[in-house]
Amino acid sequence: MDLHVAQGCPQCGAPVDLAESDQILSCSYCGSCNVLQAQGPFRYVLPHAGEEAGEGVLFAPYLRFKGTIFLVSDQGIEHRVIDTTQVATPMPGLPPSLGLRPQAMGLHRLAPEGLHRYLPQSIRANAILEKAASVGELDAMLKQGYYHRAYIGESLSYIYLPITIEASQLRDAINGRQVGDMTQLADFMVKGKSYKASWAVKFKASTCPHCGDMMEGAGNSRVLLCESCESAWALGAEGFKRIDWYQQAGGKQARLYLPFWKITAHIPVLSIYSFADFIVRTNQPMLPRPRWRERAMSFWIPAMKLRPKIFLQAGRQVTLGQWLLRPEKGRPMPNRFPVTLPASEALQAVKVMLATCTASDKNIYPHLPQVRLTETMMHLVYLPCSDRGHDWVQPDTSMTIPKNILKFGRSM
Ligand SMILES: [Zn+2]
Ligand SMILES: [Zn+2]
Repeated sequence: MDLHVAQGCPQCGAPVDLAESDQILSCSYCGSCNVLQAQGPFRYVLPHAGEEAGEGVLFAPYLRFKGTIFLVSDQGIEHRVIDTTQVATPMPGLPPSLGLRPQAMGLHRLAPEGLHRYLPQSIRANAILEKAASVGELDAMLKQGYYHRAYIGESLSYIYLPITIEASQLRDAINGRQVGDMTQLADFMVKGKSYKASWAVKFKASTCPHCGDMMEGAGNSRVLLCESCESAWALGAEGFKRIDWYQQAGGKQARLYLPFWKITAHIPVLSIYSFADFIVRTNQPMLPRPRWRERAMSFWIPAMKLRPKIFLQAGRQVTLGQWLLRPEKGRPMPNRFPVTLPASEALQAVKVMLATCTASDKNIYPHLPQVRLTETMMHLVYLPCSDRGHDWVQPDTSMTIPKNILKFGRSM
């Protein structure tokens, strides 16, 4: 489910509707485009009318995660989409989850206000995610043991539930339900802490750091492209970071260019340095060509949010077919699909992609806990795709993505 945030344009104040993980704010009133920057996850609050309470409002943090958990075990590779909002403080009496309220009510960005206090987040994010993932088959796999687990996140944020304090009664400020009694919570630190300046979101004009021209992007883009000087910039907590980008020549048939993170790395524990090493270690049903010994091994991770199955399949097809690609610098094409999966999440996916690519589970799976990447380099590469009815097809590698999935992934 998508959560919406009411946000004023920092230039003209007009209301703009953002999705919870959007980092780009394009205002249709004044035409300005701004990038949102924060140290750590975004923080939101459920809209409330508790301001009049004399003692201020206490805010209880909930961890919001939307993304996929991947699990590699003897049973193969499992995945599940997780969409959850779980309490992140151990204070007794709080509802364990915010349920549908964030979706029904929309969110406001957390801002410093008067006497309000904030309960610290003291339950670790990993523990919360594990609990959210522990259902059905995945639960059995988590308990029986696995070789590798990865969370590929799409949104990770905090949502605060406002709680009013009146005459020692703690009440959910939205539905009025009692959540606790100060006298019974004496052992628990219910005072909370004050707002931290580092939580604030900063707005930064989306001008190209190289040439000063304005850059534009979809709200959920993680990379901005400058049309004037042809540079590409990843959005990070510290500002824009220049990234090297390439593209595979497409010709007239190319209707769409899909972005991939090309992660070139060594895996010493598996003695994988070249593409030939990879072909041999993963027991592919083909003989490595002599030239593949000179070709550094790269993992190709889709730089777009896709359903887990398609994500793995597309990455596998390009990773195995990388020897057919010759990406180069070139004139940027107008029809480039936005990068919606940041480089950091793509790195999280490398081990899962290695497991997906192998033709022999036993050669690779048991080593996954020891796998470390060294000499890592990341580039962004756009691959041309042809329009084949219901599918987008990358002609060099035969990678295929159903059109309806790509649309789904974009708004997922
Ligand atoms: Zn505006
Ligand atoms: Zn520029």
